[in-house]
Amino acid sequence: MINSVAIIGAGPSGCALACFLKMRGIDCVVFDNDKSPSLMVGESLVPAVIPILRRLGIEERIAEISRIKRGAALRHGNGNRVDFAFQQFGRTFPNYSYNIPRPQFDQVLKSRAKELGVQFVDARARLDKVVVADEETLKLSAQSLLAAGLNRSSEPDLLIDATGRTRLFSKLLNISSRRGPRNDIAHFAHFKNFSADSELDGQVVLTALRCGWSWQIPLKDVTSVGVVFNSEAAKYYGATADRRLDAAIEHNDVLRRAGIERQRVSDVMTYGNYQLMSDQAHGRGWVLLGDSLGFVDPMLSPGVFMALESAVILDQLVFNNKLKNQQELNKACASYFSQMRDWHDAWSRLIAYFYDGRMLSMGQMRDHIRDQSSFWSVSRYAEPIVSRVLSKLVSGVGTRSDLNHSILHYSTEHLIKDKTCLQANQISSVLTKNDLDHIELIQKFGSVDQQCGLA
Ligand SMILES: Cc1cc2nc3c(=O)[nH]c(=O)nc-3n(C[C@H](O)[C@H](O)[C@H](O)COP(=O)(O)OP(=O)(O)OC[C@H]3O[C@@H](n4cnc5c(N)ncnc54)[C@H](O)[C@@H]3O)c2cc1C
Repeated sequence: MINSVAIIGAGPSGCALACFLKMRGIDCVVFDNDKSPSLMVGESLVPAVIPILRRLGIEERIAEISRIKRGAALRHGNGNRVDFAFQQFGRTFPNYSYNIPRPQFDQVLKSRAKELGVQFVDARARLDKVVVADEETLKLSAQSLLAAGLNRSSEPDLLIDATGRTRLFSKLLNISSRRGPRNDIAHFAHFKNFSADSELDGQVVLTALRCGWSWQIPLKDVTSVGVVFNSEAAKYYGATADRRLDAAIEHNDVLRRAGIERQRVSDVMTYGNYQLMSDQAHGRGWVLLGDSLGFVDPMLSPGVFMALESAVILDQLVFNNKLKNQQELNKACASYFSQMRDWHDAWSRLIAYFYDGRMLSMGQMRDHIRDQSSFWSVSRYAEPIVSRVLSKLVSGVGTRSDLNHSILHYSTEHLIKDKTCLQANQISSVLTKNDLDHIELIQKFGSVDQQCGLA
């Protein structure tokens, strides 16, 4: 039923789907507005992407440009830290991932699609709104058809929105969405001489900050450092992205120490950060893919995986089957939407543990059990099981498993006896008077160390 497809957007979701379709012999054209900046977010991948990179035949190329990643860690300024080692999976799953230079990663995907014979149109796609069988839908404009060497009689059977957070189709068709609770702003840059504070090879370290969190992602030659805080708090850190990033680093003791000799080697980039899921994923002749369908808080780095996985699921449900009519297509698309929503909910539930202090409190209890439990204690034997479940949850390998979520829920309920430690470990939502005074000093003197003659 579907013999040709037009994909709008050449990010990870669009290029991955284009490769899968071409592997099935389905004609495919990708519109690429070629707007990729020199620095992009999406630099840390979860291990669940590895099987997809292998299926696309690009793992070796990605390995060449990237830094291997063996785990992740979450820590608090108060000294608490939880480490997740991917090697705890056992042998069935890849126990590593990569930290990637994102623009080059996208280029590798695009080259792979070209090798497979996908046609790229270097232009922004333009769409017309039309009504078919009483339903509002979209068609490529005459100008875009021409750019792709097509005409009305040869236009594609299906349009895919892979425009990321531009959400082109949703905006044109007024599709409503569900927003998450956060409204953050992120600033990041690449640094030399900024310690990543990793304890495992390529380990990504997340630090809970006042009103937000930060990332340290070790890449091949530099460290990517980003801060994410709520939009209200961001204003106090300075008027420009550069000042905010610097002030946020100086304001946090562990970050300040890691970056004491830092040398910024890129511009500071800014992104809005929020969570969103569309209320509709498909309609007559169109489907939403990757971020254009929904995106999760990036704290655990699920974005690129979710973009690639959406292509895997859509390919499996819609293009792998010989669908005979519109009804069967609708059913397959509904199943795709339901799976993507499950993924989205699973990540969101997990990320809540990081914001509200449960994950760090669990980490504290875990260390306590390792140090204190007697040889015969039940906790001593339960601890490695819980650690493995945690690693599977954060890696994407076991994020959707109800069993893993239940084990996490049960463990936090039973291990965190002292509820006051939750408060100490949570990400606060307001800046205190002390914070504001400290930030003011930083803004005056550049660094409090300089002020004290320590720099
Ligand atoms: C602060 C922050 C940090 C993040 N960190 C991570 C991380 O560490 N790890 C991770 O996995 N994810 C991370 N993400 C998320 C990740 O970047 C995205 O989830 C991922 O890029 C989504 O891929 P996509 O293909 O759906 O969309 P995109 O990567 O946004 O690609 C969409 C493409 O469509 C193009 N386009 C738009 N409109 C048109 C048009 N009209 N015509 C033609 N082309 C068009 C765009 O130029 C772009 O190339 C982060 C996100 C944020 C906000």
